[in-house]
Amino acid sequence: MAFTLVIHGGAGNITPAIMNAEQEKQYSAGLKEALDKGYEILHKGGSAMDAVIASITTLEDNPLFNAGRGAVFTKKGLNEMDAAIMDGSNLMAGAVAGVRNIKNPIKLAREIMLKSGHVFLSGEGAAEFALNQGIEMAPDEYFFNRLRYDQWVEIRDSDFYQLDHKADNLKGQAANPEYKFGTVGAVACDEQGNLAAGTSTGGMTNKRFGRIGDSPVIGAGTYANNKTCAISCTGHGEPFLRAVVAHDVSCIMEYKGLSLQDACALVIKDKLVKIGGEGGLIAVDAKGNYDFCFNSAGMYRGMRDSEGKSMVAFYGE
Ligand code: ASP
Repeated sequence: MAFTLVIHGGAGNITPAIMNAEQEKQYSAGLKEALDKGYEILHKGGSAMDAVIASITTLEDNPLFNAGRGAVFTKKGLNEMDAAIMDGSNLMAGAVAGVRNIKNPIKLAREIMLKSGHVFLSGEGAAEFALNQGIEMAPDEYFFNRLRYDQWVEIRDSDFYQLDHKADNLKGQAANPEYKFGTVGAVACDEQGNLAAGTSTGGMTNKRFGRIGDSPVIGAGTYANNKTCAISCTGHGEPFLRAVVAHDVSCIMEYKGLSLQDACALVIKDKLVKIGGEGGLIAVDAKGNYDFCFNSAGMYRGMRDSEGKSMVAFYGE
């Protein structure tokens, strides 16, 4: 049977005007590497869940993206990360919020799903669980990134927070033309027709202590159900939380019978726009149909499938 893997590296005002040839090369290489890692697993008959973890781990290790190593700085000058994973075959899920010094938060989310008896752990409790499970830690220096640090220094004395890179000033509304959201995510359909979705993020620069976005919230930024679809979102988290975006796409498919593409378009290009939400999502269904859907200028994205189809792209049509 066929399989499909789809990834994103964040959405936002990604246009040719803010990218030079070298950056295009780097982002393209980063996305391809993540696709290859997940593809290898699916190609060998591995599970959608393992492929999603492999792709996201690769993106977390790449400082270009706002997750894991490249996580942005909070108001306190720290890196606090959120991540979630969901298995569409049994509706099991694991999520983590506000963790520090975890090398790959997506792996911690999987451990929470498999071993904690809970779905969602945060802060100190998550850190203690990580320690007990032998999850790999990394020192503060590992997460230090000059560009992101300078972005934070520019606004740290204000009440504003901003999206990844030269983000909007602020309070959540996009104002600067160079803002991007750098969260990473992956969704996959494996040979068995099982779906999985995962998302990992550093959140938003200068975010308040304890702020949690949509990414780790099951149903908002991440959702998977074999009956419908697997979804990973990226964008300004607050509207995505209020619109419960990922679960809404699934519900529209389940209860109204819309196709994957139509359900994604209804949520991202209509419902979310009406509440001022900007960003996008990646989606796959159990037949291997996939979609990239965004209402921002661009989204770092890519896909690879068993039919030999493969692509990466950044900009809108
Ligand atoms: N959705 C993420 C958040 O609000 C940000 C992003 O997608 O880059 O934390």
